[in-house]
Amino acid sequence: MGRRIGVRDPRTGRTDETLACADAAEVRAAAARARAAQPSWLALGVTGRVAALRAFRDALAERAGPMVAALVRDTGRLPVSRLEVDSVLASLDRWCGRAPDLLADAGTVPTSMPGIALRQGPLPYPLAGVISPWNFPLLLAMIDAVPGLLAGSAVMIKPSEITPRFASVLRDCVATVPRLDGVLTVIDGDGATGAAVVDTADLICFTGSVRTGRAVGAAAAARFIPAFLELGGKDPAIVCEDADLDRAAQAVLYGGTVNTGHSCMSIERVYVAEPVFAEFVDLLVGRARKVGLAYPEAADGELGPVISAAQVGIIEEQLADAAARGASVRCGGEIRTLGGGAYLEPTVLTGVDHTMKVMREETFGPVLPVMPFADADEAVALANDSEYGLSAAVFAATTEAALAVGERLEAGGISVNDASLTGFVQDGEKNAFKASGLGGSRMGAASIRRFQRQRSFLIRSPEDKAPWWFD
Ligand code: NAD
Repeated sequence: MGRRIGVRDPRTGRTDETLACADAAEVRAAAARARAAQPSWLALGVTGRVAALRAFRDALAERAGPMVAALVRDTGRLPVSRLEVDSVLASLDRWCGRAPDLLADAGTVPTSMPGIALRQGPLPYPLAGVISPWNFPLLLAMIDAVPGLLAGSAVMIKPSEITPRFASVLRDCVATVPRLDGVLTVIDGDGATGAAVVDTADLICFTGSVRTGRAVGAAAAARFIPAFLELGGKDPAIVCEDADLDRAAQAVLYGGTVNTGHSCMSIERVYVAEPVFAEFVDLLVGRARKVGLAYPEAADGELGPVISAAQVGIIEEQLADAAARGASVRCGGEIRTLGGGAYLEPTVLTGVDHTMKVMREETFGPVLPVMPFADADEAVALANDSEYGLSAAVFAATTEAALAVGERLEAGGISVNDASLTGFVQDGEKNAFKASGLGGSRMGAASIRRFQRQRSFLIRSPEDKAPWWFD
């Protein structure tokens, strides 16, 4: 067994558990078991795999209570933990419903060359490694694992060492489904364990920071294995002059503060048409003041503690930088230590510009800096002035007007007259732009194809009597 590291409780700030990190030899042993189990998993066919994942879904539904409790210990927040479990159950239902069609055999079809037929025979990568972050521990562990399993790959999940408690409940669910034995492995550990997974798997799905994503991408490239990288964001929202300001304020507030702002599709910058700027800020601040902290009990309010101790420092640094450069705090603005946990009320800043870290770097906290714009060209230029390109939101009086602005944004998922919808609606295909990621869409039908190597069988019929080669 490898090293042991401490695990902190975000509600108390105390390190009260330890985690045994799997070393490279343990990762290789688990990978060997997975590779041994994968051929019979593939041989089950999509119907058999759907049946196994439906059984897994039922096991998770039966253990929803212990799973939510573990997620509350990991993250310190209750309603979002329930939402995570419900989302994963819904996602299992959706994938199990769609997989038979998506993986249906296309049969043998004619080609452009007379006498030659084509049969596609996709073959899954044997072992997919899934490396996940701490902000939605269960959701982001399963988001790639489910399509990967349905495609016929074995999957090894390496959750974040900051939120590892849910993993034992997940292993309990797997243990109830004999077909998943060896096929779905959840392995504990930190960055070194993650690096060992990258050294061992045949394909990597990584969700996390740009910094780690670069290292994972480089390590995967050195091994010539595909790496699907889902990284950070600095999502803009644009509020046009004719938008319904109250609805926009409500959606921006939710999108910017849900899960304490610990969300890759969190709204982190707000651009508002100059003539309605003051009115929008008043509406936003009025609503923000009503959002409560989940303290002293996890069930008390909407905003849980800042989950990661390192994130506390990042948020504080950005707020201090903004204040030093002349930003005004309209509400919130101060991280408070309550019962040992670090809490921040929804924070609205004005007087901001793009020299400030809070407008350029990922905050990953409930902070909404709001800036006016003169016209649509300026709004688009400001929104695109970022190294990130994950998601965005546009609000206008009509769908067409909002789409006209949205079409010009460099981002893969754009909510129109709402915010952060990509977290909830996973039907559409989307790519991460710029430093926000690399690789095929994790959402929509294309997601499942990421796990397949495509093969073409080019078939000459024995009856074909066309002139033969060099005849
Ligand atoms: P992180 O990069 O610090 O860690 C992510 C995971 O990588 C952890 O499991 C960690 O143990 C592992 N890891 C660390 N070093 C590694 C290495 N060298 N090789 C392999 N694995 C390694 O990220 P985090 O702080 O846990 O998560 C927050 C980040 O995740 C934010 O930037 C956020 O925007 C991003 N995120 C992106 C999405 C998305 O869909 N694009 C979703 C959620 C979170």
